Amino acid sequence: MHFDILTIFPEYFHSPLKVGLLGKAIEQGLVKINLINIRDYAQDKHRLTDDRPFGGGEGMVMKPEPIYYALEALKVTPPSPYIILLGPRGRVLNHQVAQELAQKDRLILICGRYEGVDERIKKHCVHEELSIGDYVLFGGEVAALVIIEVVSRLVPGVLGHPDSARKDSFSHHLLKHPQYTRPRVFKGWSVPEVLLSGDHKAVERFRRQESLKETLKWRPDLLQKASLSSEDKAFLKG
Ligand code: SAM
Repeated sequence: MHFDILTIFPEYFHSPLKVGLLGKAIEQGLVKINLINIRDYAQDKHRLTDDRPFGGGEGMVMKPEPIYYALEALKVTPPSPYIILLGPRGRVLNHQVAQELAQKDRLILICGRYEGVDERIKKHCVHEELSIGDYVLFGGEVAALVIIEVVSRLVPGVLGHPDSARKDSFSHHLLKHPQYTRPRVFKGWSVPEVLLSGDHKAVERFRRQESLKETLKWRPDLLQKASLSSEDKAFLKG
């Protein structure tokens, strides 16, 4: 998977892209990241990337030309690769959207700042605007990192165990069951006995029921799409 990130703050990405499984995936070449400084494509001697909004109002708006020329320099022509503008007015990211994006070979992510990006970029240069949730960030860089993380986890070979992503929360429209590790007792708080029993069937049933309980409590909306056995349905009613 190849990501091109257009930003006025490329340094924002330096540390996060070096650590953990994502850092390893980049080192192994499973994930490639190309950081592009939008300011390098500014057209005036002051290298301005923003200006005041037409019609007045607060804040600054990111100018269209530096972003357009940065895209042009990548020599990309729609429909491929897939170009995303990050912003709160877009389709909201979730597991299904992440799976859809993971099918692409290359994603170009445009990070806005200030009051956002001149609307002509959204209208003429991108496939879609994507939001990471119903709130407003200072800039698109955090949103780009979120997309890089959720999509990279779905790239084959990135996770140590191929089953991990398949068993994660949301993958079957359920939240994952809680997990425990050593010690068995900490400050008097014990691990559920069944997990120590060695009875694999009982462990599986317990985990399934915990997963159903968590989902019912926190995200009952997911259960509409989950594939539930008659035993699951009886447990949920019960
Ligand atoms: N004035 C805009 C509005 O109210 O819709 C918000 C602009 S925000 C301060 C600046 C930039 O942060 C946006 O252009 C976008 O790139 C990024 N951003 C903010 N919230 C976001 C979100 N929920 N998802 C993705 N990007 C976001």
